[in-house]
Amino acid sequence: MTDIRSPLVRAGVLEPGGRWRNWGRSESSHPRVIARAHDVEEVVETVAFARDEGLTVKPIGAGHSFTAIGATDGVQLDISAIDGVLSVDGNLVTLGAGTNLYQLPALLEPHGLALTNMGDIDRQTIAGATSTGTHGTGAAFGGLATQLRGVTLVTADGEVLKVSADENSELLPAAVLGLGALGVLVDVTVECVPAFVLSAVEKPEPIETVLEEWADRIAAHDHFEFYVWPHTDTVLTKTNTRLPIDAERNPLGAFQRWFDDDFMANGVYRATLNLGRAIPPVIPPLNRLSVKLTGDRRFADVSPKVFTTHRTVRFREMEYALPVEHIPEAIRRIRALIDEKGWRISFPIEVRASAPDDLWMSTATGRATGYIAVHRYFREDPIEYFSAIEAIFREYDGRPHWGKMHTRSAENLVTTYPRFGDFVALRDRLDPERLFTNPYLDRVLGA
Ligand SMILES: Cc1cc2nc3c(=O)[nH]c(=O)nc-3n(C[C@H](O)[C@H](O)[C@H](O)COP(=O)(O)OP(=O)(O)OC[C@H]3O[C@@H](n4cnc5c(N)ncnc54)[C@H](O)[C@@H]3O)c2cc1C
Repeated sequence: MTDIRSPLVRAGVLEPGGRWRNWGRSESSHPRVIARAHDVEEVVETVAFARDEGLTVKPIGAGHSFTAIGATDGVQLDISAIDGVLSVDGNLVTLGAGTNLYQLPALLEPHGLALTNMGDIDRQTIAGATSTGTHGTGAAFGGLATQLRGVTLVTADGEVLKVSADENSELLPAAVLGLGALGVLVDVTVECVPAFVLSAVEKPEPIETVLEEWADRIAAHDHFEFYVWPHTDTVLTKTNTRLPIDAERNPLGAFQRWFDDDFMANGVYRATLNLGRAIPPVIPPLNRLSVKLTGDRRFADVSPKVFTTHRTVRFREMEYALPVEHIPEAIRRIRALIDEKGWRISFPIEVRASAPDDLWMSTATGRATGYIAVHRYFREDPIEYFSAIEAIFREYDGRPHWGKMHTRSAENLVTTYPRFGDFVALRDRLDPERLFTNPYLDRVLGA
C-alpha cells in the first residue's frame, strides 16, 4: 500500500496492518493493510485498491467467530463507522451493516420495534452475525438472516448491488447468509416486530425428563433451551414466553443481574475453570455446585435484556445443527462418550431449536433444527473432545455453524446443503477472481 500518495491513505482510510486475533483466541492473522471505511464510496474505493494491488479483502465484524472465516493477510476492511439507522418504513428498518447488535435496543426503541429473536450475546455486528448464520432458540423462529428483507452489497467489480424482494430477488436467499464470500455488505434491511416483553423461567431439572419431553417443550414454548452440565444428571432449562410490551415486568435488579451474570456466571466461574484446569478431578463436584448456584430464577423484561447476556469468560466453541428429532439421542451419546473417555469437562453443553428456512447456506435450510454447542475454556486444548463429538454429529447429517470450530470441507458439505452448488456458482459469478476469499472459505466452499 502504502503509497503515501494514495487518496485513501490521505483520507485516513488505509493504515498499515498488524496482528489480528479473534475473541476466542483460536485464530490470528496479519492483514497487510487495514481499511476503515466511513461510507459506501470508501468501500468501493477500498475494493478497487485491493484489486489493483493484487490483495484480497476481508470485511471484519466484531471478530467473534471461532473459525478463521474473518482472517486475512490482505486488506482487513472495518466498516464499524457505517452504522446506525438509515431508514425506517413501518416494521422494515435499514441499518448500516457495521451496526453492533448492542446498539439496536436504543436505535429501535423510538420506533417501538425489536428483533424477533436473538442469540446469547449482542457484541456482534449485524453483518458478521447474519453472514455466519447466527441464531437463537425457538422452534417457530429462524436465525437472524431469516429476519433480513434486503441487503446492499459491494461486489468484487465495485458494483453496488441492491438485493431485495424488488431488486435481484433471486439472490436474497444467498446474500443474507453469504459467509462474507459474495462481497461487502454495506446495509441490511431487517423486518422487526413490535417491541415485546419476555417472561423468563430458568431452573434446574432432571436430564432424562427434559430429553424425553424435548419435542413437546419446544412446541409448547416460544423460546426453550437447556444447558447440560457434564458429570451431573441435571440440566438448566430456560423457557422464555413472549408477552405484549405493556405486560408487567419484574426485571432482575441491578445487584441480582451483576451477581448472577457477572459475579457468578463470569467471575466465580472463571476461578472455578482455572481451578478445574489445575486439578481436573475437582471438575465433577464443581459442576454439581455450579448447577446449584446458577439458575432457578424468574423475571420479565424487554426482549433484548432477556435474550442476551454478557460473556467475559473466554472459551472455544463448536456447534452443529442436527435434524431436531435426533437431539435427545445425540445428547445421550455425548454424555456416554464423556464418561467412557474419562474427560473432565467444565463447560455446559447448550441445546437450542430453530424453525426450518430456505436460505441456501443456512444450517437450518430445509429442516426443523436442533443445535448442540460444546465448549472448552480457552486455555484448554479442545481438539480431542471436539473431534470425537463432531464424529457423532456427522452420523446425523449435522451441519457446522460457519462461525464455530469444525473440520468440514467443501467435498463433504456439498451433500448436506441442497443449494450448495448454486451458492458456489453465484460466488463464481460475483467473485471470479476470489477477491473476498481466505483459506477458510477455500476449504468450505472450494478454491
Ligand atoms: C461469546 C460468543 C457467543 C456467541 N453466541 C452465539 C449465539 O448465541 N448464536 C450463534 O449462532 N452464534 C453465536 N456466536 C457466534 C457469532 O455470532 C458469529 O461467529 C458471528 O459471525 C460473529 O459476528 P462478528 O460481527 O464478530 O463477525 P466476524 O467474526 O468479525 O465475521 C464473521 C464473518 O462475517 C463476515 N463479515 C463481517 N462483516 C461483513 C460485511 N460488512 N460484509 C460481508 N461480510 C462481512 C466476515 O468477513 C466473516 O466472514 C457467539 C460467539 C461468541 C464469541
